[in-house]
Amino acid sequence: MHQLTLANISKALAAKQFSVRELTSHLLTRIEQLDPQLNSFITLSKDSALQQAEAADELRSTGISAPLLGVPLAHKDLFCTEGVRTSCASKMLDNFVAPYTAAVVDNLNKAGCISLGKLNMDEFAMGSSGETSFYGASKNPWDTSRVPGGSSSGSAVAVAARLVPASTGSDSGGSIRQPAAFTGLTGIKPTYGRISRWGMTAYASSFDQAGFLAHTAEDCAMLLQATAGFDERDSTSAQQPVDNYVEALSQPLKGLRVGLPQEYFDSRLDSRIGDVVHTAIDQLKQLGATFVDISLPSLPHAVPAYYVIASAEASTNLARFDGVRYGYRCEDPKDLEDLYLRSRNEAFGEEVKRRIMIGTYALSTGYYDAYYLKAQKIRRLIKNDFDSAFKNVDLILGPTTPNLPWQLGSKVNDPVAAYLEDIYTVPANLAGIPGLSMPAGMIDGLPVGVQLLAPYFQEARLLQVAHQFQQHTDWHARTPAGF
Ligand code: GLN
Repeated sequence: MHQLTLANISKALAAKQFSVRELTSHLLTRIEQLDPQLNSFITLSKDSALQQAEAADELRSTGISAPLLGVPLAHKDLFCTEGVRTSCASKMLDNFVAPYTAAVVDNLNKAGCISLGKLNMDEFAMGSSGETSFYGASKNPWDTSRVPGGSSSGSAVAVAARLVPASTGSDSGGSIRQPAAFTGLTGIKPTYGRISRWGMTAYASSFDQAGFLAHTAEDCAMLLQATAGFDERDSTSAQQPVDNYVEALSQPLKGLRVGLPQEYFDSRLDSRIGDVVHTAIDQLKQLGATFVDISLPSLPHAVPAYYVIASAEASTNLARFDGVRYGYRCEDPKDLEDLYLRSRNEAFGEEVKRRIMIGTYALSTGYYDAYYLKAQKIRRLIKNDFDSAFKNVDLILGPTTPNLPWQLGSKVNDPVAAYLEDIYTVPANLAGIPGLSMPAGMIDGLPVGVQLLAPYFQEARLLQVAHQFQQHTDWHARTPAGF
């Protein structure tokens, strides 16, 4: 059962091949047996999952059948879930139970999904390895001495190790696409505003976007279908009609024009990853796509601009964690100042503190123009680069990451080295366009991802191209040894 994709689980449940309860207890047992070596879950919701499973079985027995009814998922631990702890992998929120459920999770619940629990991540989604988690790093099931990517690290690991068929994640600078690439999954970051941010803990609000990690584009399409759409509770939610993502999958690729940005294939890129990308290009050519060279000239400035703006936004968003209203409070504060200082100092990890300091500095009176304003101008240049590229092409293709997953611990003392690994993913967040990573090869037993980028609200095109690719390849169907 755990080898099935979400779409096939949906079919098997409809055909009564097994019950939701059987499937749920099977997965819960796997999590209990296998997750101690992977650390992908922060909270396991065993009892409530089994209760939800029974309710789903009952609905199915009365003849009700919705595609996601009884499909088990798990959620990144920054989505608020009523009655279940939402920690953001921080000591600050170790005991926090939200009084409401995030829009994404709520929509999935309403569609009938079962929640198995909450998944490990970098603290407050700051990181690209999972190592900034208060609960310890998640391990990559393809090689447990390596990082699975981040910040949606547990979301990637749990799906790659087949503990759950799909998961939610969030992507502010690559946190869905990069871990998907590092663990052999399909991960989609929709257009900014496509899915409501309501109830998703804010890191960098102008970048944050919820999305999914699954084995196939088809699975991502089913999840996006259930969650995309306007939500008046999120002022940046888009009032744009929702496409039929599932129907679009079967469209052929003939006539598709794809741009290859030369800046994505320069000396930063591990040449073996470049070879994998070129093999994928050849396969897509056979399916009818044509390729043209393009340029995104502002790309070299994307990482510095992202880290200035994201840190600035993080510094204001995280001001709410002050030891007064909720979250961690230090013991015996002397006065209010001491309460603020010690609560924040004792409960935030190093990376979070670093970003609060960078952000506060960049926003301070004397430096605002030199850093924050400058970064915003670069952000506009990057958006302009994409706008002009998409005048000539339907889609942009390149590697998701410049390198393979690195050894756990090898970059913890060099944050800038880790930041530079985000070079290919942050441009989509700066511009707000949708992106997808799909597995396209293996090097030394480690998965490699190819990234697709599309114009605003063209998620259907991303999913269609990935689906057509997956009809002719089997990289998405592989399982790491031992899982
Ligand atoms: N790796 C990036 C960072 O550390 C992206 C994080 C994210 O997308 N949440 O900020």
